[in-house]
Amino acid sequence: MTDRTPTAGIHHVTAIAGDPQQNLDFWAETLGLRFVKRSINQDDPSTYHFFFADSEGTPGTSMTFFPWENMRHGKVGTGQVSRTAFRVPDGSLDFWEDRFDEYGVEYDDRLERFGETVLPFFDPDGLPVALIAVEIPDDDPTVPWTEFVDEAHAIRGFHSVALWVGDPYQTEEILRTMGLEEVGTEQSPDDTGDERTRFAASGPVGKYVDVLPTIEGGRGGHGTVHHVAFQTPTDADQKAMRKAVRSDGLNPTTQINRHWFRSVYFREPNGVLFELATSDPGYTSDEPLEELGERLVLPGEFEANRTQIEAGLAEIHIPRATD
Ligand code: ZN
Repeated sequence: MTDRTPTAGIHHVTAIAGDPQQNLDFWAETLGLRFVKRSINQDDPSTYHFFFADSEGTPGTSMTFFPWENMRHGKVGTGQVSRTAFRVPDGSLDFWEDRFDEYGVEYDDRLERFGETVLPFFDPDGLPVALIAVEIPDDDPTVPWTEFVDEAHAIRGFHSVALWVGDPYQTEEILRTMGLEEVGTEQSPDDTGDERTRFAASGPVGKYVDVLPTIEGGRGGHGTVHHVAFQTPTDADQKAMRKAVRSDGLNPTTQINRHWFRSVYFREPNGVLFELATSDPGYTSDEPLEELGERLVLPGEFEANRTQIEAGLAEIHIPRATD
């Protein structure tokens, strides 16, 4: 066994979008998340990188997007996150269905899974998402953003990701290496094929990973998840976890500075791209908490090319409740 600290759960999820304004309007206004960081893709500075989270950018609450306008539409399949689910307070799903009707959001019938009620829906690019009603404790680490959705209904970070994989056994071994524990299996009404196996981290936010076998082929593009990151709070935690997954025969990158966290990437055996992300320095390292997301932030050496980079990016308007 290794001496790594088990991950507490999901740190962030990054997906591929099309039109940046459409993405911003949906995730900030319709879903009511806080737009905490407006930046660029550090590997492709002609593309935005948008970050949506709770009020404070708490680890376990960030949904991020690369709006790659010219990319094809994707298809969810094996080796991908098949659905990303968020926590909402118990009793709030009627509110959300009404809001989805009002805003023209595509959603499916509610269903029960592992004793909780799930409301599956899709973002404007067809990304499969869900809201899951849970009891939010008074000492919950997340801090709701209430500009568009009040506290009784606001999204409170990730609940889970579901993974579609060809060979569940190998993925489950890696999850165990990362410190998640199997909590049960269930056949859900919306699942194709076999039953799903749920794994739990120590939580409370971004606690679950569900593994589902599939032979459905996928391709990256609009409406698909690019990668899922897990919490390794300190460099030492990350180093130990990197060593542990290497011992399982995987091939993690060296540490990469992502400006708001430091990251290590690897593909788990079925091809899902995983990241290990530190907690610090966080989104307030380059903007005050009150002003998160208001200006384009260019990390490190990109600041020197601000004029050129800004000229290559689409104009966007951040939705405000006062509009
Ligand atoms: Zn990431």
